[in-house]
Amino acid sequence: MEKRYIYADHAATTAVSDEVLKEMLPYFQEHFGNPSSIYSKGRENERAIIDARARVAKCLNADPKEIYFTAGGSESDNWAIKGTADRLAAKGKKHIITTVFEHHAVLHTCEFLEKHGFEVTYLPVSPEGLVNPEDVENAIREDTALVTIMYANNEIGTIQPIPEIGAICKKHGVLFHTDAVQAVGNVPIDVKEQNIDMLSISGHKFHAPKGIGILYVRKGILLPNLIHGGGQESGKRAGTENVAGIIGIAKALEIATADIPAKIAKLTPLRDKLIDGILKIDQTRLNGDREKRLCGNVNISIVGIEGESLLLMLDYYGIQASSGSACTSGSLDPSHVLLSLGLVHEVAHGSLRLSFGEEFTEEDADYILEVLPQIVEKLRGMSPMWETLTKQNKKLV
Ligand SMILES: *Cc1c(COP(=O)(O)O)cnc(C)c1O
Repeated sequence: MEKRYIYADHAATTAVSDEVLKEMLPYFQEHFGNPSSIYSKGRENERAIIDARARVAKCLNADPKEIYFTAGGSESDNWAIKGTADRLAAKGKKHIITTVFEHHAVLHTCEFLEKHGFEVTYLPVSPEGLVNPEDVENAIREDTALVTIMYANNEIGTIQPIPEIGAICKKHGVLFHTDAVQAVGNVPIDVKEQNIDMLSISGHKFHAPKGIGILYVRKGILLPNLIHGGGQESGKRAGTENVAGIIGIAKALEIATADIPAKIAKLTPLRDKLIDGILKIDQTRLNGDREKRLCGNVNISIVGIEGESLLLMLDYYGIQASSGSACTSGSLDPSHVLLSLGLVHEVAHGSLRLSFGEEFTEEDADYILEVLPQIVEKLRGMSPMWETLTKQNKKLV
């Protein structure tokens, strides 16, 4: 079998695409002017940013005035949540609703607010990794300041009923924020139609560079300043603009949203082939709903193996993937997302996430399906846990 190199960790980050890089490059040298400067080199860049803001707004069906450029998804999440909390606490609203399986940029922000006198309701998700809109409605109280629920989960790829949740929040007059970092380019986003008040985007998940993001804030919502200083970003986020990054994220967003149905049509059969193929291995389990999931996401628990060993073996075979077993801090705690589905620790530990993009091919899928069962067999052969389970004839999934 010929070795292939497959990057299957798009949910972690992606490469800057040729088209995006090409559009950005002039802004590093030729067009280096400060957008706030009065001479032409500055004004040209000011215009480029105005243009980029309009292009971004169009992709989301927003108004350019509602688009703020940030340094990424984490910053956008922090600003939306802490900013809203700050504003509404003054009106006596100190309750926030979120879910147990958010990205840490949301969860840790909520935990921070809990230490500062806020009360947070962490809604559970179904065993398939879906939020029930009724749960959201039931959790809303007089003093609820904000509902923040992710559009698509970064580990298990499940797509949440965001338009329904948005409608519920609107009905009750509660602000609604969604972390749409994983949804961009995979789900059509229309902030007006879907009743979204605030929405976070990160460039590096869809072929723009790292360190550039977007926060959409609906007109009429007044967030406090994030960074005090100059007048950039309507005076709310000071600092000379990341011009190249802003141009890059606008281009990348246009490309990502140009033909979402074509991407879904191309990747869904490959995703399903991988899922069906991997589930043929004994004692495996698909994590997350089969239908309501991103077209480039596969997440499967494989009983009796350690995620880390699996990733190292896959890397040896040229496949770069991720696992839900150890979190970013390198701790051995299983992923909070997998535990939220009701998985026991032993099962959550042996999980594999494959997340791929447009360049993924049938040959890539075939290669993974050839290599993976051999690796699993080898690892299980060395696993005391697998030996015990086999002896006891015990099934964990
Ligand atoms: C990657 C990611 C983030 C963080 O984005 P950064 O730009 O890396 O800060 C936030 N939320 C989700 C769902 C993500 O996948």
